[in-house]
Amino acid sequence: LPTVVIIGRPNVGKSALFNRLIRRREALVYNTPNDHVTRDIRDGVAKLGDLRFRVLDSAGLEAEASSGSVLGRTAAMTENVLTRSQFALFLVDARDGLQPMDLDVGKWLRKHATGIKTLVVMNKAELLDDISGSLAAAAGEAYTLGFGDPIALSAETGFGMTELYEALRPLLEDYVLRVLKDEDIDKIGSCEDEDIESKLPLQLAIVGRPNVGKSTLLNAILQENRVLVGPEAGLTRDSIRVQFQYDGRNIYLVDTAGWLERTKQEKGASSLSIMQSRKHLMRAHVVALVLDAEEIARARRSMKHAEVVIARRAVEEGRGLVVVVNKMDLLKGKQNSKIYERVIKAVPEEIQTVIPQVSGIPVVFVSALEGQGRIAVMREVVDTYEKWCLRLPTARLNRWLRKVMSRHSWKDQAAQPKIKYFTQVKARPPTFVAFVSGKTRLSDTDLRFLTKSLKEDFNLGGIPVRIMQRTAP
Ligand code: GDP
Repeated sequence: LPTVVIIGRPNVGKSALFNRLIRRREALVYNTPNDHVTRDIRDGVAKLGDLRFRVLDSAGLEAEASSGSVLGRTAAMTENVLTRSQFALFLVDARDGLQPMDLDVGKWLRKHATGIKTLVVMNKAELLDDISGSLAAAAGEAYTLGFGDPIALSAETGFGMTELYEALRPLLEDYVLRVLKDEDIDKIGSCEDEDIESKLPLQLAIVGRPNVGKSTLLNAILQENRVLVGPEAGLTRDSIRVQFQYDGRNIYLVDTAGWLERTKQEKGASSLSIMQSRKHLMRAHVVALVLDAEEIARARRSMKHAEVVIARRAVEEGRGLVVVVNKMDLLKGKQNSKIYERVIKAVPEEIQTVIPQVSGIPVVFVSALEGQGRIAVMREVVDTYEKWCLRLPTARLNRWLRKVMSRHSWKDQAAQPKIKYFTQVKARPPTFVAFVSGKTRLSDTDLRFLTKSLKEDFNLGGIPVRIMQRTAP
């Protein structure tokens, strides 16, 4: 498992974060800097959503520090934790602001933790907020530590753990895939995980430029379905959620409140600011991108730049994408029938052109105002989600591989890739590893061919599918 060490000056809440990550409540966290409950580094298996990693709590080492300086325990730290870790969470106190000792820790990390990817985490952030600007101010200060964008959270309340998840996920996945061994494969999170986060309902983001009809579409969908939780006021806009049931399945709308709020301010503006935020896409499992049919009919191209950006980003982030063309009622007049035909043809074509790496992205034509097509939208959303979660047994994949390889002929026999073994390492989105033998490598063409075949044969159109290659052990 990848290993993450929690580092920081005394009393920033290292143990509290450690406890939250390992979900063990009985360990005590004392507030006084002089009261050290633990002497040793604590070592546990962290569960954060569908992520598993080893976490080390360096708080115990503080007992060894003779002075207030972190330097006193440098040797112990180097020996004990840095050699074992690939990642570090550099904890600071969001409310206290940066202390001289934080700067020392930063300096020390830069010097000794060179091979370790470090994220700055601002703990105790639950009382700061966007509105007064206190959160932004603290983040600005923490940024100056030089380890990139800080993550604001509260180890006590759990606020912001999603942000931590989102920051760690790509790092850990990348690491695991780099050092992948057979026995690791099963440890990576998957759809069937007995895990809270992966049991979370389908998270749907409805995105699009202002005025395309997102609110209207949402209302049309919600009318039919039981809304389980109304928009509820949380600590930040991000924590406001709408949940409803569709076809017996719970669905969360991600960031709906965010755009409902902003749509009001941005009416008429062509900005896509809210959707451009990567964060919102990262949280969604499926992204429904809403376009305006009337605009498409008038324009030369179906998608505005901002819409292309968002569609690409959704796919690059590994989300499932469903495109919804709204306001079709406006094109239904007889004199417009040609235009109608053109829109129906143009949109899927253009999506294929701008996102060539994912074929078969579903496009649904609706009139949210008339309530038409809302069921089709939800069907595509659920369908996309199910593909996104799909897990294929290794035996089946290898039978498939043999067939695919035999039905394809390589011009140059020597160029034929030698894949010993093919396996799915994770779902959400489906990610595969081809173990190639000896010195052979799969070319980009080979990888494209495999991806295409995989998608066709297992009906995985419309979602990003990743294949990586490793040298067979
Ligand atoms: P949002 O900013 O994306 O949430 O857009 P709204 O849902 O507020 O809709 C913007 C405007 O488009 C409103 O005046 C809606 O009544 C109108 N609208 C939304 N959907 C449709 C539709 O299917 N057909 C027509 N004709 N108008 C629509």
